[in-house]
Amino acid sequence: MSETVNTFEAQQQGRPTGPLVRGYEVIIGFETHAQLSTASKIFSRASTAFGAEPNTQACAVDLALPGTLPVMNKGAVERAIKLGLALGSHIAPRSVFARKNYFYPDLPKGYQISQFEIPVVQGGAVSFFLGEEKKTVRLVRAHLEEDAGKSLHEDFIGQSGIDLNRAGTPLLEIVTEPDMRSTAEAVAYAKELHKIVTWIGICDGNMQEGSFRCDANVSVRKPGEKLGTRREIKNLNSFKFMQQAIDYEINSQIDELEEGRAIEQATVLFDPATGETRTMRTKEDAADYRYFPDPDLPPLVVAAEWIERVRATMPELPRATAERYVRDHGLSEYDAAQLTQSTALARYFDDAVAAGATPKLASNWITGEMARRLNASGASVSDSPVQAVALAGLIRHISSGAISNSAARQVFDALWNRELNPTLVGGSFEQMDAMFTAYFEAKGLTQMNDASALDKILDEVIAKNAKNVEEYRGGKEKALNGLVGQVMKASGGKANPAQVTELLKAKLG
Ligand code: ADP
Ligand code: MG
Repeated sequence: MSETVNTFEAQQQGRPTGPLVRGYEVIIGFETHAQLSTASKIFSRASTAFGAEPNTQACAVDLALPGTLPVMNKGAVERAIKLGLALGSHIAPRSVFARKNYFYPDLPKGYQISQFEIPVVQGGAVSFFLGEEKKTVRLVRAHLEEDAGKSLHEDFIGQSGIDLNRAGTPLLEIVTEPDMRSTAEAVAYAKELHKIVTWIGICDGNMQEGSFRCDANVSVRKPGEKLGTRREIKNLNSFKFMQQAIDYEINSQIDELEEGRAIEQATVLFDPATGETRTMRTKEDAADYRYFPDPDLPPLVVAAEWIERVRATMPELPRATAERYVRDHGLSEYDAAQLTQSTALARYFDDAVAAGATPKLASNWITGEMARRLNASGASVSDSPVQAVALAGLIRHISSGAISNSAARQVFDALWNRELNPTLVGGSFEQMDAMFTAYFEAKGLTQMNDASALDKILDEVIAKNAKNVEEYRGGKEKALNGLVGQVMKASGGKANPAQVTELLKAKLG
């Protein structure tokens, strides 16, 4: 696995710092809004639950009605600290909330409370693999802020409405340096960040509901030139749209430049229906927002002891879990990466291994047979009808030689369709194993391990295949395969191929 090219050195020497598109280098920086999974809002007790009737979950504080005061939600700060710890950032001992002033119908109070000059999380990085190459994207900061409401355009009555339920929902805005050099790298970064925030449990990651939305800042330049003017694609809430939107933006910027026009800094929206981006507003600067410290909120003080208390609750991170799978269970890097796509998946694997499944087999079944079915139905591992202990039970019967791999696939089918429902009673495997055995017998799936039962079949096959026998005895090892195949067929697939091979070798001297 190779490290990232030294982009600084390449830039100094006028060499490309990433792959070129039509002779241009692509530069991407991300601002991601992760909705923090607290039960109540960032400065009030109103609920953050999704899907309530419009305007039933915004309270006087969320609307900044006169006489109300915001009170910081400790849970939101804790989640910000967790992200900082996961990404190796500096957690500011003292950070400040500011008012970002702008007018929009979904923001009746006229300002958004955000952190501006001194954010709570500073620096840090996200590392991930893009194919074989290790990429590191540096973070500038992650700051706490409140969400605004939502405009609803009811086309059928020709009116627009405002739903303020989302006002005051806690957000962590995670900002990167312009370190990404291709659409693929940007999407891989977003997927990695999504994995981390859900893994450490600070965000539910539901992109459809807007819990994780990305703004992609995109610019292009000829290698060696200084940074080009960027355009910002707002609110990308699916990895597929993200890829389409960035690709479109790159090409349209190159078209502009090739036609001799300059890029105008702008905020754009991606329209999935046309696959194009269109301008929402042109350049706005920090100065336009008239930021000033919020007089209603004291500085946020995070003591070292608090950070240590949060650190003690941190789970093992995906990278460390993957390394442990390689080290302790002998899995390949690839399999380990697959199994650490989500906490739920890793926990499933851990549970299966704890219930006696051979790690390699557990990995194969989870990332193969099970993942295929889950993907087909769009379900996640927590919805799997096959419990980890049940999969472990099946795998233990494969390892012991009780059933063959092909029979096991049939049993997995039965588990998946709930035709077979083995249960673990009182933590003892005995009863569960008995249910498996009964099922194997009822379906005639038990492998023939008993040498005497196989003996008759072996003799018949040897008698009927004199030519193969002769060839094998004459030194042609391959001829044995034909004989093994015949025995397997005659046994109706119930013989154990490894055992058949051994027995045949013994018989043929
Ligand atoms: P603002 O706060 O005004 O939105 P920033 O300078 O903080 O502007 O940048 C916002 C985002 O844009 C960051 O993720 C940054 O990495 C990215 N960015 C800045 N300059 C460029 C550029 N020339 N091309 C692509 N992305 C950029
Ligand atoms: Mg911005």
